[in-house]
Amino acid sequence: MAPMLRRKFLGRLIAVGTLTRWARAQLRSQEPAAPIFLERSVAGQPHLGKVLLALQAHSDDIPLMAAGTVAKLIEEGYAGYLVRATNDDMGDAPGLGTPGTIGENVVGNERDNVEVARVLGCKGHFDLNYSNHRMADISLNELLGRIIFLIRLLKVDTVICWDPWAHDEENPDHYMLARAVEAACWMAGRAHDFPEHFAAGLQPKTVQDKYYYARRPEITRVVDISKQIEKKIDANRANVAKGPAGHLGSRLRADLAKRNQRLPLLGDDDLIADRNYIREFVMATSRDLGREYGVEYAEAFHYIPPGAAGADRDPRIDAYVKEHAVPFR
Ligand SMILES: [Zn+2]
Repeated sequence: MAPMLRRKFLGRLIAVGTLTRWARAQLRSQEPAAPIFLERSVAGQPHLGKVLLALQAHSDDIPLMAAGTVAKLIEEGYAGYLVRATNDDMGDAPGLGTPGTIGENVVGNERDNVEVARVLGCKGHFDLNYSNHRMADISLNELLGRIIFLIRLLKVDTVICWDPWAHDEENPDHYMLARAVEAACWMAGRAHDFPEHFAAGLQPKTVQDKYYYARRPEITRVVDISKQIEKKIDANRANVAKGPAGHLGSRLRADLAKRNQRLPLLGDDDLIADRNYIREFVMATSRDLGREYGVEYAEAFHYIPPGAAGADRDPRIDAYVKEHAVPFR
């Protein structure tokens, strides 16, 4: 639609006070893409009082994709909670992490995930305990109900999760969790969905602030995590059972020593070896992205800001009423 026509169309809709969510979405879809916003570090704790729910299917999702942003938002005042949807029982892959049986994977990742939550400064964590790679089987409504409960219980303001609309995703756990979170953010605010929660003392709570990470994200926001890179390295070092960081640096250092070789990168002890290996190899993506945006390290998101998904009532209608309402007679 041409700009002039669009303005006329918009004006007509506002005039009759019926600018529906559908109409707004149509209008937005025809506008040029907004420039990518660079979210920088802020001083103090402007987010004090707000609650962040960081959700991952597996123990390494948040560490790899969004640990810097989780740590940043918590440093800036959020109370953070980490949700892990699976038990990571298919957790190890050839050459990564700690080879083990399915049972060993469960206990190893359970332990590692607690450490990830601690390193990032989370106030608490929840394990939903679905089988790894088997989330395609589970009821979407069951998962929705559990996430809606957590959103209402914790009074969540902001979520960080896999992107339900992402490209190149092959893991069913990722997209099942993402679909449930997207719907739960909306449904948690509606009084007729899961009303028994209210008898237990909870209240409806909509979430309209969403950072979605993805393998190939539709990037609308890049977050400068230079200040949080040491925490991101530590969160990835905590993923011992699964990798791809964990203790691989010290393992490589030991393998080289057996062949009477060493890498200066890996230093003189296991801790330095692990951290320098992660910084050099596992953080390369964050470093490359940061370079593109003129910062040292960064993470990319399909960010959905408050209001974008559409409030049930367009705030412009109230603004119009305030400006134009006159006394009756
Ligand atoms: Zn995963």
